[in-house]
Amino acid sequence: MNMTHRPTEPTSSEPAYAISQWPDNGDLMDRLNALIKHPIRGIRKDAMPGVLDYFEQKCPTSKAWARRAAEVIPGGVQHNLAFNYPFPLAMTKVDGAHMWDADGNRYIDFLQAGGPTLLGSNYLPVRQKAHEIIDECGPATGMLHEYEFKLAELIRHHMPNIEMFRMLGSGTEAVMGAIRLARAHTGRKWVIKVGGGYHGWSDQVVYGLRVPGTGRREAAGIPRGSTGKTQEVFPNELGTLRRKLMLNRIRGGTAAVIVEPLGPESGTRPVTPEYNAEVRKLCDEFGALLIFDEVVTGFRVGMGGAQGYFNVRPDLTVFGKCITGGYLMAGGIGGPKSIMMTLVGGIGSGTKRAFVGGTLSANPLSCVAGFYAIEEMARTNAAVIAGRAGDRLAKGLKEIMDRYGLPYVVYNLGSIVHLQTSALLLMSMRNPIKLLREVHARRQLMEEMGAAYLAHGILTVGGSRIYTSMADTDDVIDDALDRFESVFKLV
Ligand code: PLP
Repeated sequence: MNMTHRPTEPTSSEPAYAISQWPDNGDLMDRLNALIKHPIRGIRKDAMPGVLDYFEQKCPTSKAWARRAAEVIPGGVQHNLAFNYPFPLAMTKVDGAHMWDADGNRYIDFLQAGGPTLLGSNYLPVRQKAHEIIDECGPATGMLHEYEFKLAELIRHHMPNIEMFRMLGSGTEAVMGAIRLARAHTGRKWVIKVGGGYHGWSDQVVYGLRVPGTGRREAAGIPRGSTGKTQEVFPNELGTLRRKLMLNRIRGGTAAVIVEPLGPESGTRPVTPEYNAEVRKLCDEFGALLIFDEVVTGFRVGMGGAQGYFNVRPDLTVFGKCITGGYLMAGGIGGPKSIMMTLVGGIGSGTKRAFVGGTLSANPLSCVAGFYAIEEMARTNAAVIAGRAGDRLAKGLKEIMDRYGLPYVVYNLGSIVHLQTSALLLMSMRNPIKLLREVHARRQLMEEMGAAYLAHGILTVGGSRIYTSMADTDDVIDDALDRFESVFKLV
């Protein structure tokens, strides 16, 4: 296979990170709290039939396929993020910033496969390398391949905290492995996460999902013992974190504090600028490992990840999504050699190890795709370009919403744009009566907004989040803004 290493271009005076400005947390929380208090406001009742008519008239193939899928797939979709109101759309083609459904309708793709395709969908230079490796040795061999270490070297080059990297199959697996590693390394038990944060679906972290304070609410099928050593703290509450660390010290100790470094659910409640550094100090004081879940942020925030942006050193970094540029089996754990050697691979070295594995993990296709995707991200400064698209979109949306007097809140952390219309994800168990009373109506609003965006040619993440990519030119964003305005006219 003729794959010569193309060095990344020298860095210019371009910024290195996608986030041009961190939101003013106080102001943002005031606006979000005002949205929670505001009466629920969505698509007008008289406008909704027109939205649904789009799906009936324009999407007959999707409708027929959705019916077939519902017979053999629980809920009719395999992906939790596949938007399915009034029925899931079946997509047949993607290219850059756009996606086409089975009936030939085009959408601006702000789902970007759930985040991994920072370079834009189906990016040609990476696709070509994927073709080459498939032609040469198929997707998997089960043996060492040169791109296994080339990918690890490249990650180490961009994130100096990472001396070693163990590749796994998904973000979920990587979180599971990182927690096991932290426990094996420290000999301690407790794991603290931030309420509302998502770290995949392994037993121990299906706890306090989406809405802080909800603990085991989503833990059907998970024995109490599996979450028995998991705790959650409310976002940005350092005092509570300290108290939990102190309490844990006398009952087995804290193995790890795991955070999404932008804040839970990719910054749905953004951290304060000093939060991660303060958590680092607390981890040092109490001897816990700090795990950064960079499944979304590495390399979407920049080549140095969120750890580079905040200049905070985690002990372990969890990867997913971007690590293979959207190709299969995307996950891994990185950290210093002193900790990572506990993840030693092979039949075993006779020393204590935290066992992880995976038949198809780190296959040649994943490693080659990851290597070239990350190289292209660095060469093109993709995170910053996608971040500029996020800035333009958020600014434009705010202007439209102000013009129409809407109570909605929009802000962006680079290429992650949060568009809160229902505030569902901002509620908490601190006000359980309001949560229980309003959860249904707010979920319905989110679904209806998502359907209205789709009917106007925009695909979002669950109706409340947008991932921009390097393919989002000013023209794409301006087109999206016109379409969003058409939706907001229906409110
Ligand atoms: N961690 C975070 C922050 C995520 O956003 C996700 C998935 O969206 C995961 C972990 C789980 O990754 P995967 O879906 O690859 O299992």
